[in-house]
Amino acid sequence: MGLLDLFLPERCAACDALSGGAPGLCTSCALSLYPLGAACPVCGEPGERAERCRRCAATPPPFYRLDAPYRYGGELATALCRLKYGGAQSAGRFELARPLGALLAPALAVLLTPALGVLLTPGLAAGKPDLLVPVPLHPARLRARGFSQAHALCAAARATLGAHAPPLAAVLERHRATSAQAGLNRAGRARNVNGAFAVAPRAVPRIAGRAVLLIDDVVTTGATAAACATALLAAGAARVSVLALARAEA
Ligand SMILES: [Zn+2]
Ligand SMILES: [Zn+2]
Repeated sequence: MGLLDLFLPERCAACDALSGGAPGLCTSCALSLYPLGAACPVCGEPGERAERCRRCAATPPPFYRLDAPYRYGGELATALCRLKYGGAQSAGRFELARPLGALLAPALAVLLTPALGVLLTPGLAAGKPDLLVPVPLHPARLRARGFSQAHALCAAARATLGAHAPPLAAVLERHRATSAQAGLNRAGRARNVNGAFAVAPRAVPRIAGRAVLLIDDVVTTGATAAACATALLAAGAARVSVLALARAEA
């Protein structure tokens, strides 16, 4: 995001129409936004009531809670695909991180204002994250895409929040190139990413004792988030919560 971008008119991340100042998507594409609604407060799985799902009751994930403002689908899915694959030769389109980051920003603002968070999300324990940590890409994927979409979304959302936003710390490394999670079932997804992440040794002192908010674009089963949380906790993080722009059906 260059300085010049600040002066360009806002365009819809899904269809490139002038968005008329609305954040992220034009009015027409925004009609397909589907808020997460009632969901498990731990893993974010949509349900009839906002209560702990059976899976989390039996085996809680390593992260404290997972939030996502929207369900994956509609024009949001189109926009996220364009962000990751819409550029020349299947590279991503970095400039779409800004409008999509604007869609993530309100949810991030709630998590950074614990009093407001408790009000809006009963059961949310107070505690502002100390660090924002994006889910990393494997270096090979990063080369193909040109940027990490989680990092770009995190930076764009953070930039809207002013000086009180916690620092963005890209401390996680993806050691193993994992096959795509799409097409794998829940157990397969967990096996695929288990042990794939670690905190860079030089970054361990930044993590120890800190409350971390892990940021990703889309969460499906939470297997990637769980593998990242395990790595952060192993490096001494006091707590790991997760924020994704969209929650897909597992
Ligand atoms: Zn549009
Ligand atoms: Zn759950």
